[in-house]
Amino acid sequence: MTEETKRRISTDLTGQIALVTGAARGLGRAIAVSLAQSGAKVACVDVNAESLAETVATIAATGAAAKAMACDVTDGDRVAEVVKQVAEDWGGLHILINNAGITRDNVVMRMKDDQWDAVIAINLRGTFLFTRAAAKPMMKARRGRIINIASVSGLMGNPGQANYSASKAGVIGLTRTVAKELAGRNVTVNAVAPGFIATEMTAALGEEILEAVRKQIPLGRLGDPQDVADAVLFLASEAAGFITGQVLTVDGGLTA
Ligand code: NAP
Repeated sequence: MTEETKRRISTDLTGQIALVTGAARGLGRAIAVSLAQSGAKVACVDVNAESLAETVATIAATGAAAKAMACDVTDGDRVAEVVKQVAEDWGGLHILINNAGITRDNVVMRMKDDQWDAVIAINLRGTFLFTRAAAKPMMKARRGRIINIASVSGLMGNPGQANYSASKAGVIGLTRTVAKELAGRNVTVNAVAPGFIATEMTAALGEEILEAVRKQIPLGRLGDPQDVADAVLFLASEAAGFITGQVLTVDGGLTA
């Protein structure tokens, strides 16, 4: 991350407590680091605490507070425990980023039950579990920001991704409904729908497919994790206080 990209969005999140799932790498790491650079204390969640070491060290190097918390987002008891611990240790939870997600691609005719189940469990159920747990401290504080990382696949579909598209369309429906349920307590709930962003998830597609993808993107490049982190920062900021139930697409014009 260069100095230049660090400063693209300037917002003050001092005093805010944030939690980011899937923070060990990719978009989750960029989001966690950006929130911390804006002054938030950040609870970094991933399956293994060890995998979070680099994210936590990057945040600590900026002088901000971060902690690594091991949690499988599909484990409801652990999710409730993690949210309770953050709220107790740091005095609340104001910003939740539901980012953990996986792909298990296959055309629908060949899709295995376990491919379907794993993707729905992590991408959709995990988002529900953390949203439910975080709603309590946010409603109590009468302020909160929930930002769910969806995908353009959930808006337009994508061959080979019936499970993934369904999970992300589900995340968008969940976002719109919870936005209406929590609005009366000043908790906003929005989704960010990235297009193709350069992370390990997209690297797995291989260079040939990625070159074809680049040709379809009007801006002519894959996104950078910071492009998504900046959209999240905006939605987490005071400036986005009147925006709720929306999907902000960050895709270089792919769905325009
Ligand atoms: P990534 O590089 O694969 O990182 C995902 C992170 O989530 C990993 O650290 C992974 O941990 C963690 N994770 C997986 N299962 C988990 C679970 N059960 N509990 C807790 N953490 C878990 O993915 P990414 O590209 O950064 O994507 C992040 C989010 O953006 C996902 O929701 C993805 O669907 C969405 N998205 C990405 C793109 C893109 O182009 N990259 C586009 C649209 C949407 P392990 O490594 O230990 O499994």
